[in-house]
Amino acid sequence: NHTLLEVKELKKYFHLEKGKTLKAVDGISFDIYKGETFGLVGESGCGKSTTGRTIIGLYDRTEGEVLYDGKNVHRFSEKEKQSFYRNMQMIFQDPYASLNPRSTVREIIAEPMEANNLFKDKRKQMERIYQLLEDVGLNRDHANRYPHEFSGGQRQRIGIARALALDPDFIIADEPISALDVSVQAQIVNLLTKLQKEKGLTFLFIAHDLSMVKHISNRIGVMYLGHIVELTESKELYKKPLHPYTQALLSAIPIPDPDVEDSRERMIIQGEIPSPINPPTGCVFRTRCPAAMEACATHKPKWQEVEEKHFVACHLYDKEITKEHDEVAVTK
Ligand code: SF4
Ligand code: MG
Repeated sequence: NHTLLEVKELKKYFHLEKGKTLKAVDGISFDIYKGETFGLVGESGCGKSTTGRTIIGLYDRTEGEVLYDGKNVHRFSEKEKQSFYRNMQMIFQDPYASLNPRSTVREIIAEPMEANNLFKDKRKQMERIYQLLEDVGLNRDHANRYPHEFSGGQRQRIGIARALALDPDFIIADEPISALDVSVQAQIVNLLTKLQKEKGLTFLFIAHDLSMVKHISNRIGVMYLGHIVELTESKELYKKPLHPYTQALLSAIPIPDPDVEDSRERMIIQGEIPSPINPPTGCVFRTRCPAAMEACATHKPKWQEVEEKHFVACHLYDKEITKEHDEVAVTK
């Protein structure tokens, strides 16, 4: 596996009034392999969008490193930066808000090309735009229309065409289907999968719901309050979730097959996500965790590879902590 993106101990803090600090992303690490889809999942406010925006440079990082193809992006020269930003593009949750309502589809897709002086020949540029429209399941007749003339799903296709305009290698998709009708969601997921195969794309796919990333992701990281609490291959995560938060998220997804009796116990996550301005001590999940122990209030759980390629940050899997505190793991 060729590692395309490395995120190391990344932190993004926002400094608020009265000396308060919002710890949106608080020291997360993960790798993304070339050609894979990495799903980043968590409830709203967990820091997943901030993670995407910090990686792509829309926010300055507070601490930590991002490496792209082995190179530290924070040390890029101007020229390297330009090519990095061409290679990395973003698809947004709300296609309508991200498209200029006064621009035609042609102008929307042409904009990044013109900003990068991609074509001297306008006819070649137009051909490229037609090709992109076709790639995303639209056609050349759509080029002179305006965003409001399209449905939500079609608008997301326009957003995808624009993201592809510079022929990127890496795409950050920030909840690209959350705002769409359920019937349209699968079509957009299928389109993204098709494009990934055709163009060899690598995806960071951000979602608030595990069921949305299940089929598209090779690996998944689960985020909670600025931390990644579990990370493993998609299949493994569904089969054997280790972190109590992942277990709760999964138990909330209904089993789609009506012939299979759903005998699983529903785990309801109690209470609200605490404020990232004043996060709990020790484990950030402890105020809502059904398995919380004494040690959870005093010790920050270590990020450990407890099984091959299966990482989790939870004291239940830390033999030293459970021994030291003589407490039994409850939810295994
Ligand atoms: Fe729950 Fe403790 Fe594990 Fe945190 S470390 S998830 S509070 S058991
Ligand atoms: Mg978000």
